[in-house]
Amino acid sequence: MKYVSTRGEAPSLSFEDVVLTGLASDGGLYVPESLPSFSQEEIASWAGLSYRDLALKIITPFVAGEIPEQDLKTIIDKSYDTFRHDAIAPLVQTGHNEWILELFQGPTLAFKDFALQFLGHLLDYVLKKRDQKVVIMGATSGDTGSAAIEGCRDCDNVDIFILHPHQRVSDVQRRQMTTVLENNVHNIALKGNFDDCQNMVKASFADQSFLPQGRQLVAVNSINWARIMAQIVYYFYASLALGGPHRKVSFSVPTGNFGDIFAGYLAKQMGLPIDQLIVATNSNDILHRCLSENDHSKKPLVHSLSPSMDIMVSSNFERLLFDMYNRDGAAIKQLMEDFKSGSMQLSDDAFNKAQAVFSSYRLDDDEMVEVIREVFESTEYLLDPHTAIGVKAAREKRRDTSTPVVCLATAHPAKFPEAVKKAGQAEDPALPFHMRDLFDREERYEVVEDSLADVHAFMQKNIRA
Ligand SMILES: *Cc1c(COP(=O)(O)O)cnc(C)c1O
Repeated sequence: MKYVSTRGEAPSLSFEDVVLTGLASDGGLYVPESLPSFSQEEIASWAGLSYRDLALKIITPFVAGEIPEQDLKTIIDKSYDTFRHDAIAPLVQTGHNEWILELFQGPTLAFKDFALQFLGHLLDYVLKKRDQKVVIMGATSGDTGSAAIEGCRDCDNVDIFILHPHQRVSDVQRRQMTTVLENNVHNIALKGNFDDCQNMVKASFADQSFLPQGRQLVAVNSINWARIMAQIVYYFYASLALGGPHRKVSFSVPTGNFGDIFAGYLAKQMGLPIDQLIVATNSNDILHRCLSENDHSKKPLVHSLSPSMDIMVSSNFERLLFDMYNRDGAAIKQLMEDFKSGSMQLSDDAFNKAQAVFSSYRLDDDEMVEVIREVFESTEYLLDPHTAIGVKAAREKRRDTSTPVVCLATAHPAKFPEAVKKAGQAEDPALPFHMRDLFDREERYEVVEDSLADVHAFMQKNIRA
């Protein structure tokens, strides 16, 4: 399968090359040239498959001709071996025809493990095959960094450097990263904020001459296509568990960079009968404004109690726009050029198309805290703040209650004790059993000045020969 850039100018690439590339050279994002699609009969025949076997069915066409099925099977099996729950993505009921899809059963307690466990094993496989070594560099405000580190800790051919803002991530989040002591894992606590970390990473991708000969940087944020691809699977899994494809299911998705919900859109395009796709945002609501009133304008970042969704501009939205503009790369290039001014307007046609597929809703912190309280009172089930936003959006935007709605639970509540306490819980939610000793484990990280030269010097010292 070939992959093309959303801005129409960069060369098309193979799957493996796309995995090793960040942004396309024209500034766009890579998407498959055409999507695989499955018939209703074929989807129906997958009822009862394990998560791993279903993943194999869905991912195979995306890597066709490059990764033999047996090798792909091994990669998938290893990726989901680290999940505690036998179902990998279990469903829990919280209301009439309302379900929580628990995507936090992986090693770092957030849904990002689904993609990053897979990406880690995939990179290991591709790099060994090519006898190539790479350097991963990423910035994190919390969840991405720990999931990426867990995914790559055993990759012989990867040195991974994750930058987090010094003293500005929660203790749980920091310790999930800094207690991984493998010698290819490096945590940089940058004396700056998250934007400084991101700028440092951007500048490093733009000029990679500081790397040793023959090395390149690989991106682990959701511009990496393999991450999106791995997330398509759980939409199928949830639907099949609830009677799909013979009946439609709706999904409500707490959204930041538009990666997770975009995977849902792809599942629908590939033939899964999905009724509504609900985009749920916190006060950083550019997506809600865009999808409800065609207002895609930047506003100052608000720090919320759902920090993993504190994003000013969603990078994966460009992948959707590419489809809404009938895959016209030149039009997307122009649109993104316009957006440099801080705002852009979709054409009527593109806006109408997007509205036909997505509903959206936004919640502020106070409303979100009420949802955690409400759901706990009626079910004794404790939501994390991101998931709570999705649950409320589902309740507000559902057209009918005869169609099951699945709310994606993107994190375990123990990762976000502040919100949970505000919702009236007397104590911090307990960490799952395998992590009870997190606060006793040894930590290792380097505090570095907010200086490109200092960061590069640290990396040069630690990249293995
Ligand atoms: C990353 C993250 C999100 C947002 O996901 P996107 O794919 O960026 O939309 C939501 N919730 C949690 C807990 C996250 O870690």
